[in-house]
Amino acid sequence: MTQETLFSKIIRREIPATIVYEDDEVLGFKDIAPQAPVHVLFIPKNHIIPTLDDLTAEQAHLIGKLALAAAGYARREGFAEDGYRIVMNCREDAGQTVFHIHMHLLAGAPLGHFGA
Ligand code: C5P
Repeated sequence: MTQETLFSKIIRREIPATIVYEDDEVLGFKDIAPQAPVHVLFIPKNHIIPTLDDLTAEQAHLIGKLALAAAGYARREGFAEDGYRIVMNCREDAGQTVFHIHMHLLAGAPLGHFGA
């Protein structure tokens, strides 16, 4: 069963967020606790999918939409050539805290490597 999360409230403008991108299917907004100089979240607007592990084949195109929105934002904001990272956290060991799939876009400085 899918349940609403606070991202549903951001989509409906019921709680504040700095929205930087929107189309029919995707919303992009600045992360409230940025982990890099640029930290934007891209989320599907019309589907509540708790984790990447819940994504169905019929919904798979949404991941491409999120990636295209992130890449387009990077180009428009002028940091695409310097580079950026996209991240999707799935469940507890990855640190997922909001169970409405989202793609993190991180950029604006050398990010270093990551892992355990
Ligand atoms: O991948 P994860 O679930 O940890 O990411 C959720 C993200 O949502 C966090 O980076 C958190 O800072 C962000 N967030 C936000 N606005 C909120 C609540 C959480 O940007 N109102």
